Amino acid sequence: MKEKCGLFAAFSTSKTDVIPLVTIGLRGLQHRGQEAWGIATPTMNPFKQNGLVTDNLDQSALVLQQMKSNIAIGHVRYSTAGGTSLSNAQPFSINKKFCIAHNGTVCDLNSVNTKLTGKKPRRINDTSIVGKRLLSILKTNNFDWFKSIELLCDELVGAYCFVILTPDNEIYAFRDTRGFRPLCIGWHKKSKTYLISSESCAFSMLGAELTRDVNPGEIIKISNKGLESHSFSRGERTAHCSFEYIYFAHPSSVIDQTSVYESRRKLGQMLAEMYDLNADVVVPVPDSARPAALGFSEKSGIPMVEGLMKDRYAKRGSQRSFIQPKYKERLKINRWIMPVKSAVDGKDVIVIDDSIVRGISSKAIVKTLRNSGAKSVKILVTYPPIRHPCRAGIDFPTHEELIAYNTSGKNSDIDTINKKVGKSVNADFVGYNTVENLAAGIGKKPNQLCMACHDGEYGVLNRNLSNETSE
Ligand code: SF4
Repeated sequence: MKEKCGLFAAFSTSKTDVIPLVTIGLRGLQHRGQEAWGIATPTMNPFKQNGLVTDNLDQSALVLQQMKSNIAIGHVRYSTAGGTSLSNAQPFSINKKFCIAHNGTVCDLNSVNTKLTGKKPRRINDTSIVGKRLLSILKTNNFDWFKSIELLCDELVGAYCFVILTPDNEIYAFRDTRGFRPLCIGWHKKSKTYLISSESCAFSMLGAELTRDVNPGEIIKISNKGLESHSFSRGERTAHCSFEYIYFAHPSSVIDQTSVYESRRKLGQMLAEMYDLNADVVVPVPDSARPAALGFSEKSGIPMVEGLMKDRYAKRGSQRSFIQPKYKERLKINRWIMPVKSAVDGKDVIVIDDSIVRGISSKAIVKTLRNSGAKSVKILVTYPPIRHPCRAGIDFPTHEELIAYNTSGKNSDIDTINKKVGKSVNADFVGYNTVENLAAGIGKKPNQLCMACHDGEYGVLNRNLSNETSE
């Protein structure tokens, strides 16, 4: 099961209808999933739609108006495996006993399902397997939720956050013991509403405050009694996903006390210290590399220009190519990145990008800048070379898809990778960041972060790769 998605939940202690809050909150998390979305209330009949929250909003509003509730959970979906049909959209109702939504990857679904049914699952891309396993644990533990969730987490291997809504008007939210995926708590003062969100940017959209992160290995319960906490942390090292900070998360979010925007800006400054390159202009790849390009420009003194623009007036212009499920879709979205000829014509250009995964965007960008008259195109990348598939919910599933692995293998030094990837994307130079700089820019130690897509250290997932399952 691989879901790199967004979670949102709301509980109003003043009995205010929270459906509008959840809908806006999910819009605030749209960058985390653009394939489908859904909202569940204690009636246990979740409402689900394909596409963006704003697609067909008039029609959705008719249904949502009838869902009035002071308690709800919601989900935006980005699948990294499995189908994109509405049947896979979340939240799921589990036998009408509770609704569940998930962000992350549970690696050992075969073993979860075997405990549940004695059989291997035919389809494994399904949050409902975990939900059904939780239901069976609840039944044998007198519906003691804290105990049952803790027992469930003892069985799960992977990177995950869940939100659960019970018919008894309670919300449970929990995060794995290593804190791979972000999850935080907020407070909407006007409606006296507790909020849970994958990212704090959704609180900002609502004018709500970020209270704190859900700690790794913590279960939060929200009910009429207020907020309660139960820890099942085992004192392990953390493994926060470093890719969240440089690409996936919204720049306005604060994750585990770190500002995503300031991290990106600092990483740009560090690239300027690391690579002393001459150029006329610095161009960010829109949108996630913009703060890094600003940091690079501040440190190097080379002016930043918007030499590449997303076409915001086309529907696809606002979408993210990386999270599209199909190669053809990624190519289509790259077409909506347009050069600004006057900004790059006759200039030596440094492009700042957050990462190079498959190299599809990099090739297209080099080509478009050269066609617009750029004399030279050098690319600097805030994330170290991605040489290994992510087993924790980000969509680069095979070595063969990764340009750094394809061109340079698993063990090449950084200079070799820089040269080979540069040649492959037809750039005059490619320079990656280092792990040490990345961690320093994020304000963490390297051993507090997951870097498995760079170094292949899947031990952070406690994962036996021989048991890997996929659809
Ligand atoms: S492997 Fe990379 S993308 Fe996946 S969780 Fe770890 S740091 Fe994030």
